[in-house]
Amino acid sequence: MISYCPKCGKPVADDATFCPECGAPLKASQPAQPAQPGYSKPKEDVGQKPDNNLILAIITTVVCCMPLGVWAIVLASKVDNLWNSGQYAQARENADKAKKISIIGIVAGGVFSVVYLILTFGIYGAAIFADLY
Ligand SMILES: [Zn+2]
Repeated sequence: MISYCPKCGKPVADDATFCPECGAPLKASQPAQPAQPGYSKPKEDVGQKPDNNLILAIITTVVCCMPLGVWAIVLASKVDNLWNSGQYAQARENADKAKKISIIGIVAGGVFSVVYLILTFGIYGAAIFADLY
């Protein structure tokens, strides 16, 4: 008996698991395979590794507040190490702090920029106005 690949339509061996032509999985009836081979389930009390928010911290550094951004980067860069050495609570705390500091930095930077722009254009406008009259 010959099966056909549902994806590309080529005939494939009936017992093939994957299409040799396009690599599409063929067998819905196969016993369920582990989603990720070699993936080990994390311990229940541990949960997912927190996002270290490093990207956010770098954005903070670049767009506005260098001191806050650097602070966030330092915290964020420790998250993975802490997590890997089993200090899960500390890792989460660092990730949280990095995120908060980054957000504060970005918001403060945004507010500062707006105020700066208003002042700049305000003074510029006032200077033009004063010049005309
Ligand atoms: Zn195929």
